[in-house]
Amino acid sequence: MSTNYLACPECDLFIALPVLAAGNKACCPRCHYILTASHYNALDRVMAFAITALLFLLLASFFPFLSINVQGQERTITLLQSISVMVSQHFPVLAVIIFIPVILGPAIYLLLSIYLCLSLKARSLYPHSITAMKFVSHLQHWNMAEIFLIGILVSFIKIISLAEVTLGPSFWAYVLFIPAMSAVSVNIDKYQFWQWIKIKQGMPVFKPVLSPVSGIINFNSCPMCASIMPLSSTSCGFCGTHVDKRVKHSIQKTWAWLITAVVLYIPANILPIMKVKYLGEETANTILGGVIVLWQHGSYPVALIIFIASVLVPIGKILTLAWLCYSVQNGKNRFCKQKTILYRRTELVGRWSMIDVFVVVVLVALIRMGTVMSVYPGPGVLAFCGLVIVTMLAAISFDSRLIWDHGACAEYNKENS
Ligand SMILES: [Zn+2]
Ligand SMILES: [Zn+2]
Repeated sequence: MSTNYLACPECDLFIALPVLAAGNKACCPRCHYILTASHYNALDRVMAFAITALLFLLLASFFPFLSINVQGQERTITLLQSISVMVSQHFPVLAVIIFIPVILGPAIYLLLSIYLCLSLKARSLYPHSITAMKFVSHLQHWNMAEIFLIGILVSFIKIISLAEVTLGPSFWAYVLFIPAMSAVSVNIDKYQFWQWIKIKQGMPVFKPVLSPVSGIINFNSCPMCASIMPLSSTSCGFCGTHVDKRVKHSIQKTWAWLITAVVLYIPANILPIMKVKYLGEETANTILGGVIVLWQHGSYPVALIIFIASVLVPIGKILTLAWLCYSVQNGKNRFCKQKTILYRRTELVGRWSMIDVFVVVVLVALIRMGTVMSVYPGPGVLAFCGLVIVTMLAAISFDSRLIWDHGACAEYNKENS
């Protein structure tokens, strides 16, 4: 059976991986990161789900999405109209916030996935397949369709006492789009796809040298395509990605993003994220104010979701990353596995903070009825959005392989030899 060599992207353990049978997955024995999961008929599945998801996304974009009725005055919007409303009302940043992660990002991701599957099924690779795969790998992190849907549901609960909301056919198309989109993501195994591309390109395999004394292996690993190369290489010979043994200035960059996040946290929580004009009366809502109003109206689960996603998650993320940076800088090498798992979860949970931003965007786009009822974004929403993006960048800047340095690698290898 042929064997591939790779380094765990999260702890840098060198692993000899046999070719997996369909339905099996391989985890890193040291940090439990899922290295690869082999799916039955992955290419056919990805194509089928991607075409389905694209159709639902098209249906979701052009037909009535939501209707609102306030005091007999009715307004209906489509998903694309909600973006043009933002642009026409001079909120271009909000238009970008909704358009890229909710429509454009998923659409490009799905089209590229179909292109890649066709390319891998063809006799030889189509042009730019490597670039397409790089985009697919990046876009997987920034898709926020399901968070947007929760944002829509939360916005209903916020206005249910003031207005009557009707769901249009496009809303249901968007609901169906989400499981199809998730099925595409699940079936695209990054490692497996890169392996197929490499086989088609006839890439030579580099076997790293295992040092017999320390157990440390002299190699560099490509963070994009997982190719192994000599320690002297600075860029991946296959996909062209810049390669470092450890991300340069990872800790300094993470600290810089974290300090920016702390600075943004203050205006994000003090300034109003939205202003509601109802029958001539204007009220401004901060994040915490919105949670308190929901709680007072008896919507306890929604109040809790918003409180956790908007208040606790950013703080938790900042504290966790600060602790990880501190422990790496001070050479602490205990609980490495737990720290790596904590880092992984922090990265996953962080994007859910966008719920409140989506709530504001939906309400601003939907409720524009002059003096009867209108919603405007407050300055806090930009600060909050900046906070979410900056904490995501802080997590990306942190190189989790640093957790395993300071002798922990050698200790683990001794224990398991
Ligand atoms: Zn690992
Ligand atoms: Zn590469």
